[in-house]
Amino acid sequence: MKDHMARLAAIVKIDQEIQALKEELEETPSKVREIQNQLQGITGAFQEKKTEKDKVEAEIKKYKSEVEDETTLVKSREERLNATKTQKEYQAVLKEIATGKTMIKEREASIARLSAALEELTKVVEPLQGQSDELLPQLETAQAEIQGTVDQLADKLKNLESQFNEQLSSLPEDIIHKYRRIQDKKQPAAARLLDGTCQECYISIPPQLFLEIRKTQEINSCPNCHRLLYIDFND
Ligand SMILES: [Zn+2]
Repeated sequence: MKDHMARLAAIVKIDQEIQALKEELEETPSKVREIQNQLQGITGAFQEKKTEKDKVEAEIKKYKSEVEDETTLVKSREERLNATKTQKEYQAVLKEIATGKTMIKEREASIARLSAALEELTKVVEPLQGQSDELLPQLETAQAEIQGTVDQLADKLKNLESQFNEQLSSLPEDIIHKYRRIQDKKQPAAARLLDGTCQECYISIPPQLFLEIRKTQEINSCPNCHRLLYIDFND
């Protein structure tokens, strides 16, 4: 029965390695998610500012072309001014010229205001583009690396699980059932018994039970946490 206890000790060790690996496997992709979220935030901000910038640029373009058209019109009116025959006509053309000049002045003020806004937007958009350009290859590298790590961990896990099943199946049927049942509720499913104390819940088991376990070397359950108890005879 000493064999069973030694095997149980080995099983617990493998089981703990399996649990640690599973946790590592769960945590690994979170690094990729972190970069993805960061990139998403930057891309979103970039798109928003870029749309705004494009709109301002289009408006400036429109105003500039209006100024150009109006300047041409004012020029031709100024030429027409000399050819007017009546005072009334002269006044009318003069009024047209004044209106045109006011319009040009207004548009130019708008262009100046929009150009300042454009400058501010460019200051924001360019670094965002730079950040996004930097993060994209980082994400690709992280994804490739993580895939490699995940594959490695999965292989290791498969290997450990088969070792675990092999070892567990060599124990008596009732012990296997008990182990599985406890395993579903808590980890580890077995505890080392040291100087009469369960090393998981730290309760001292009744002296009589301890003596019996030492004598028979049968696998018993801890009266408190119900884990299977084993003695490490290498101590
Ligand atoms: Zn216990």
